[in-house]
Amino acid sequence: MSHAFLPAHPFDDDKLREECGVFGVVGVADASNFVALGLHALQHRGQEAGGIVTHDFETGFNQQRRMGLVRDNFTSPNMMASLPGPIGIGHVRYSTAGSKGQTAMRDVQPFFGEFSMGGAAIAHNGNITNADALRRELIERGSIFQSSSDSECIIHLMARSMGQNIPDRMEEALRKVEGAFSIVAMTRTKIIGCRDPLGVRPLVLGKIGDGWALASETCALDIIGAEFVREIAPGEMVVISEKHGVQSHFPFRPAKSRFCIFENVYFSRPDSILGGRSVYETRENIGRELAKEAPVDADLVCPVPDSGTPAAIGYSLESGIPYAMGIIRNQYMGRTFIEPTESIRNMGVRLKLNVNRALVKGKRIILVDDSVVRGTTSRKIKEMILDAGAAEVHFRIASPPTAWPCFYGVDTPDRDKLLAANMTEDQMRDHLGVDSLKFISLDGLYRASGEANGRDAKSPAFCDACFSGEYPVKPTDMIAKGFQPKVAAE
Ligand code: SF4
Repeated sequence: MSHAFLPAHPFDDDKLREECGVFGVVGVADASNFVALGLHALQHRGQEAGGIVTHDFETGFNQQRRMGLVRDNFTSPNMMASLPGPIGIGHVRYSTAGSKGQTAMRDVQPFFGEFSMGGAAIAHNGNITNADALRRELIERGSIFQSSSDSECIIHLMARSMGQNIPDRMEEALRKVEGAFSIVAMTRTKIIGCRDPLGVRPLVLGKIGDGWALASETCALDIIGAEFVREIAPGEMVVISEKHGVQSHFPFRPAKSRFCIFENVYFSRPDSILGGRSVYETRENIGRELAKEAPVDADLVCPVPDSGTPAAIGYSLESGIPYAMGIIRNQYMGRTFIEPTESIRNMGVRLKLNVNRALVKGKRIILVDDSVVRGTTSRKIKEMILDAGAAEVHFRIASPPTAWPCFYGVDTPDRDKLLAANMTEDQMRDHLGVDSLKFISLDGLYRASGEANGRDAKSPAFCDACFSGEYPVKPTDMIAKGFQPKVAAE
């Protein structure tokens, strides 16, 4: 097995993974450098593969796709010189739909299509919930698919459209698509951004000099020195060119926004801004809510690094129990540098995390983590803390129990693998072997995310399907395969 095709976290399959980040820029010299930097800042959203497409009027469209990290692929002068021009888009990927678990080269985006009015490239974050049905229909009508990705449906739907220009065709295509999509696309002169009517996945607009940028998160604007202008609204399409600036319209039937609440907990970078608030601040609020809902007498509050850190700080501030780094993360344990043989795999989480023995010995420890998925990592962390001599271990989790799979662009195990789908909180506590285990309530998470009255059961402000089982977009393909949601929109 070649290193280049290993998943990014071979020792940790116990996290939900956001599958994609998208970025685009127009009106700058050497757009590819900006795209590479933007993708680098979005690398947490997908580490398996990345791609960049640019256009200049001498050489036309140029594209490069690679397995692996942006910093390993899109830095050499030769590579960047092969992507000339003032306009470009890019994509980083962790596979969900398509060749699950291991990305095939043919599934690496952006996808490119040649139309009668010129070429277009498209990068998609999210998941199309009626892709199987669309694909069947398109193949019956003669489309030849190049990849196993749901996103390719959009290119084929565009090819079949009678629209007079690329934005019109994209609009028509996206009206047939169900699910979650934040899209960044490009023609020879324009970049196009579009969010699904519920705005499940993020997309933001930035200004850089005379140019413009689109990105999954504001941290990707920061890295290129772009000013954050605003979020693209749910259901909005923006067509951006150097000549005409930003033209906005709303091609879909209006719907109530249902942004992914898990972006607040885990997926987005803490230095990004979501819904007008820093993600860090929201996570600290989550910790405060958790401390109010689930207090416990203890000596130290420790995060499971890195994603549990802001919530642990919030818990500490609210409870008055000192915060400490009881677990230290090996910063350089990124992509594998050794073959994950069985013996190495058995070392598991120890390769990534180490307990600060001197600190935890004899202490009652509150461990704050972002989520419990399968529970395998939580069990190992508990063992490590107890081995180091802790007197008690209390888990506090910054999200409600993850009991349902996500079909909107996040890689989740099947329901039977989700601990919370099969056990009560007390059973999970016993299974993990900790002194206590408490999750934040859904209401508490909503309050921390800016909804002062908690979750409005009749009209929730966010998508929370992985906690509630209430799916705001019907997961058509999965229902056809036998999945039974608790509640699904029609
Ligand atoms: S199901 Fe969960 S992870 Fe998926 S979009 Fe909804 S809140 Fe986010």
